[in-house]
Amino acid sequence: MIKAIRGMRDILPPETGRWQWVEQVAREVFDLYGYQELRLPLIERTELFARSIGPDTDIVAKEMYTFPDRRGDSLTLRPEATAQVVRAALENRLDRAPGMKKLYTIGPMFRYERPQKGRYRQFHQINCEALGADAPELDAEVILMLMEILGRVGLTQMRLSVNSLGCPECQQDFKARLKLFLQSKEGWCDDCRHRRETNPLRVLDCKSAHCQALLKDAPMLKDCQCEACAAHYGRVLELLNRFRVPFEENPRLVRGLDYYTRTAFEVAAAGLGAQDAVAGGGRYNGLSQELGGPEMPAIGFAIGQDRLMEILPPEAAPPGLAKTFLAVLGDAARDRALTLLQDLRAKGLAAEMDFEGRSLKAQMSLADRLGATYVIILGDREMETDQAVLRRMATGGQEQVALKELPVILANFITGKI
Ligand code: AMP
Repeated sequence: MIKAIRGMRDILPPETGRWQWVEQVAREVFDLYGYQELRLPLIERTELFARSIGPDTDIVAKEMYTFPDRRGDSLTLRPEATAQVVRAALENRLDRAPGMKKLYTIGPMFRYERPQKGRYRQFHQINCEALGADAPELDAEVILMLMEILGRVGLTQMRLSVNSLGCPECQQDFKARLKLFLQSKEGWCDDCRHRRETNPLRVLDCKSAHCQALLKDAPMLKDCQCEACAAHYGRVLELLNRFRVPFEENPRLVRGLDYYTRTAFEVAAAGLGAQDAVAGGGRYNGLSQELGGPEMPAIGFAIGQDRLMEILPPEAAPPGLAKTFLAVLGDAARDRALTLLQDLRAKGLAAEMDFEGRSLKAQMSLADRLGATYVIILGDREMETDQAVLRRMATGGQEQVALKELPVILANFITGKI
């Protein structure tokens, strides 16, 4: 039998219902803050990611699904959304319209990582990107919005870490100091030995515990910040405090992509094990120019939806529609039930019946399996009197009701009017 590719998985019902609900909550919060949806291709030119994410990042160096198409052009399955959103904004001239562009996109991303709990090769993100403003108030708003989405879906044990990566000038100074520090010590992993020459910031992000221990006395980005970057960061923290968003400063937080400037943040959640980052983001003021566009300061975040689903409290998602099952006995009843089924659905009531000729007993157990709240039993005897039996599955209580009143009675039951 042909199986799914390693690191890729099927998401099945009823789990898909919970996914839809989380997406719905995110959409509601995005609406509140004035964000609009973009739907983007899953494949882009390799160059887009190589140029923006950075050649020495794990993503570009090791994790991209890259292949030549039939013409020989190098294409890549998107490993993240930000570069793509900026590409789409520039290509569609969204940057020419006045004011900010507040955009979101929801969908799968692809990275060739070693699969494990919370790490997949196709995973799903809820992405937000705010293009066109450099104000620290926007940074605070974006973080507030992220925490609101996570809070509304029921996450309680979260740790928000914040840092400032400074502007390119601060980073240049910091990189020089960091490089000297890295060269003064031995014992770095192979990757870091390479990174300390090409992109020393990446060393701060190394997953190896040994490298992390060596970094203990490394210089801090914070100590290299210019006045404007320090003021920006101070204002973001002040606003987070004002809105009582708990956070901690993490001066080592760098994030795995090259394009970040100034504010960077990550949310870790309890219950995820080693891969505990459920969301991350930051400001990327230089990305538009990197991609050949005009100056366009911007900030965004990505929520890892797979990980979010894993730690969502089971009671978080509201139950779906109450279901009604029509159990029928005899051909005339079966035929009549088809009309009733459509009448119920027309009233907005979820209703189903058996099409496989099951016995009444088997229909009742099917109703149970489907989680029906009500069962309507319709046999030839009921048909003669234009009545049906209405049974509440939770209590087993039954009553006779007139067929023509059934949709109204059921609708009242379900909306809680009776
Ligand atoms: P990043 O773009 O790497 O900052 O990722 C943003 C979020 O996406 C992370 O916080 C994770 O929750 C999620 N994520 C990243 N990579 C994976 C993966 N391979 N599998 C599942 N979730 C992931």
